[in-house]
Amino acid sequence: MLDVVIVGGGLAGITASREVTQQGLSATVLEARDRIGGRAWSEERLGLNVELGGNFVHWTNSFLWREARRHGLRIAKGLDAERIYWVTCNQVKSGTPEEFFELLRPGMDQMVADAVEHFPYPYDVYTADISQVDCESFTERINRLDLSEEQRDIVSAINAYGSQDQDKQSVSQLLRLTSLYSGAWETMFMAGDTWRLVDGTTELVQAIAAESTADVRINTPVATIEDLGDSVRVVTDSGEELTARMAIVAVPINAAGEIDFVSGLPEPAQSLFDNGHSNRGYKVWIRARGHIEPFRAHVPHGQGPLNLIMTEYRVDDDTLIVAFGNVDSTVEMTDQAALQEALRRFVPDIEVIAIDGHDWASDKYAQGTWVMLDTGQLSQNLPVLRHPHGRLWFAGGDIADGFPSWMDGAIESGTLTAGSVVKALASAET
Ligand SMILES: Cc1cc2nc3c(=O)[nH]c(=O)nc-3n(C[C@H](O)[C@H](O)[C@H](O)COP(=O)(O)OP(=O)(O)OC[C@H]3O[C@@H](n4cnc5c(N)ncnc54)[C@H](O)[C@@H]3O)c2cc1C
Repeated sequence: MLDVVIVGGGLAGITASREVTQQGLSATVLEARDRIGGRAWSEERLGLNVELGGNFVHWTNSFLWREARRHGLRIAKGLDAERIYWVTCNQVKSGTPEEFFELLRPGMDQMVADAVEHFPYPYDVYTADISQVDCESFTERINRLDLSEEQRDIVSAINAYGSQDQDKQSVSQLLRLTSLYSGAWETMFMAGDTWRLVDGTTELVQAIAAESTADVRINTPVATIEDLGDSVRVVTDSGEELTARMAIVAVPINAAGEIDFVSGLPEPAQSLFDNGHSNRGYKVWIRARGHIEPFRAHVPHGQGPLNLIMTEYRVDDDTLIVAFGNVDSTVEMTDQAALQEALRRFVPDIEVIAIDGHDWASDKYAQGTWVMLDTGQLSQNLPVLRHPHGRLWFAGGDIADGFPSWMDGAIESGTLTAGSVVKALASAET
């Protein structure tokens, strides 16, 4: 019988397949899409190899960094912003990056002041009682900060890119990420929005996959998973059955609700999969004519359709811009004229030549962008996914111990879950 069946061939699943097969176990990866990599996907669009999903990496991402170094992957920065625009009280203001950060500092200092207190050891969030802080939303926290209207707006704006529905989402993930940087939120933001892999994340995915001997089967969505007691049965959409000694389920939280866990899951896990989290915004690439002065724009929720806009690359004589919209964006990511209008708020004569991107929110196998948990989910739902349920194990960037929502978390989770599965199978044999 097959040792391990892995559902989902993103970074977590592919890493898990490498780890188990390198320990001599047999494994099959069942991937729904026509490619591996999931939300880590670089491809040529608008004249350049761009990231349609996960983009930014940093040397503080220890699991990812190890892979990047081992495989000789190079990193580089995008264009350095010379001007920052921000929107407050529906007005556009601008300044140098230094001026922006001066304005932001008092608010962010207050926003994350208790990060290390609540998450003293961010790799195991349950070492402290997080039940209360996990029930506080971004909006609630921002509203209770002692700040001017403008300072409040820019705290909301700088966080709007990460949390696409601030009324529903808990501040706990922001605090946890900040605690990973010992409270240094400027470093945390820099790590999350500056450096990228020169040749793209698909090269990273392929490098890890090349070290796996698993049978990787694309175009194979899984419909049901059943723990039979002495084995696990997985049935694909096309009705094909696979039986294995263990299963690792490495699909996004928001897509897991599509799978029927026939033998049942604890209620907190099943309700998390049924309800999902609220990060369902979009990322769109925009090619604009000419060399636009490098800039960033930060917009709070409710004051514009795009929350973060960044000039990233020069392509020939043009500029490539990346922009992020939130769940309530009034502009469709496919509406070129409306996107141009949204950009003209900051650069009045900008001319958009072409746009491209992937709609992760409507994608059945993602149903969202990166994880940003809703209030209560980290304290009440996530704990049950850290443990196996019979022969079912869970992995993924969405549920990682450290750096949830980052590619690093996916690699970490795939590595650690695979290690636990290897041990469990070895002890079953003795
Ligand atoms: C727009 C965007 C921007 C991002 N920016 C960054 C960033 O800058 N830096 C960063 O570190 N991270 C970023 N992320 C997050 C990062 O990409 C993810 O956290 C990470 O790639 C998740 O990996 P994973 O393997 O856990 O999940 P996924 O990559 O989602 O892999 C899960 C796989 O499961 C498959 N699947 C789903 N359902 C089924 C099924 N029923 N049967 C079989 N297969 C199934 C999917 O097709 C997918 O391939 C971003 C994500 C998005 C979408």
